[in-house]
Amino acid sequence: MILGRTIAAALCAGAAGLGVFALAAGDAWAFGGKKAASTDEVPETTAGTTGSAPAIGRASDEAALKSWCADLDAEVNRLGWTLPPCDWRRWKLGGTSVRGRPLVYAEFGNAQAEENTTLIFSMVHPDEITPLYVALQLVQWLGEHPQSLTEARVIVAPLVNPDGFYAERRTRTNANGVDVNRNFGTADWSREALQKWRKRFGGNPRRYPGTGPNSEPETRFQVRLIEEVQPHKVLSVHSPLNFMDYDGPMSIALKQFPKEYVHKCLELRSRVKAQHGGFFPGSLGNYAGQERGIPTLTLELPTADARHAHGYWERFKEGISTVIRFEVPAYVFREQGGDGGSVN
Ligand SMILES: [Zn+2]
Repeated sequence: MILGRTIAAALCAGAAGLGVFALAAGDAWAFGGKKAASTDEVPETTAGTTGSAPAIGRASDEAALKSWCADLDAEVNRLGWTLPPCDWRRWKLGGTSVRGRPLVYAEFGNAQAEENTTLIFSMVHPDEITPLYVALQLVQWLGEHPQSLTEARVIVAPLVNPDGFYAERRTRTNANGVDVNRNFGTADWSREALQKWRKRFGGNPRRYPGTGPNSEPETRFQVRLIEEVQPHKVLSVHSPLNFMDYDGPMSIALKQFPKEYVHKCLELRSRVKAQHGGFFPGSLGNYAGQERGIPTLTLELPTADARHAHGYWERFKEGISTVIRFEVPAYVFREQGGDGGSVN
C-alpha cells in the first residue's frame, strides 16, 4: 500500500535523521572541520513581501538586538534556566513581529557549504517554552565549536514568535491571534484554511489561520529565511506532543538510502513514537516539505515544562547533530511531490 509504505518510510527518515532515542546523552559531537566566513549581509526590505529582496541579514541594528537580548536574559532568568548571557553580536535581524520585536536568527558553519544547509526554527508556538531552551543551547554549542562545521551551514531562529512569548499570559498564537503554523501561503490556503479550521477545530482561536495566507510577519520571516538560505532540510522544534513528524519528498524511502542508514532507521523506528495526523493548509510541513520538496522534520519535545528543558537538551542534542550532519542525497531534490502530514 503506497500510502502506508510512504508514511513508514517518511517517519523512519525522521527517526533515523533525528536518532534521538538510541543515542546516549553526552555523546561528543564531531562534525570535523573549520568555520568559514559568514555570508555578506543584505539590507532589509519592507515586511510583507517575499519577493526578490529578502529582509534577511540586516547588517546592523545594535539597539534592537541589545534590547532583544535584555528581554531574553530576563525571561530566561524567570524560567530558572542557567544559560550564558545573550550576546547581541551573535544575532542578525530578519524582520519584526506584529508588536515590533526583532525576529532574529544566527548563522554558523561554512556559508559556502553548498551541499548541506540546515534551517532550524523554534518557538513558532510561544507557549511551548522548552524548544527555546534547546535552541539557545544549540546556538551556544554551535558558537563554541566552529571547528565542527566545515561542510555544513546551520541557521537557527530560536524565537520565531516573540510576542506570544512575552505576553502576560503566553499564547500559541501571535499578537494578531494567528497560529503562525497555519499561516504559510500553501496552495490550498485560500480554499481550505478557514474551512478546515471551523470544521476540524470548531473555530478554536488557538488555531486560527489568519485573514489571509502569509499575512503575519512571523510567517514571512520564516518564508524569507527559507528563500534566502535555501536549506537542504528544515527542523522545527515544538512541544509537548512527544513525537516526530516528517514532511517532504517521497524519495526519502528506505530502499534508496545507503545500507548503514537503512539499518539505523530500522533500529530506531521501533523506539520512536510517531504520529501522523493529516494535512493542514498553511503549515510549515506543507509549505516547505510538501510544496517545495525540502525534507522537513518536526520534533515535538515531551513537555512544555521549563524544568525539564535541560534534560531535553541532553537527550536530543545528539539527534539534532545527526540532522545537521546528514546530507540529503541530491536525487531527493529532483523528485516531485511529497508525503507526510502536519499534526503540530
Ligand atoms: Zn507547536
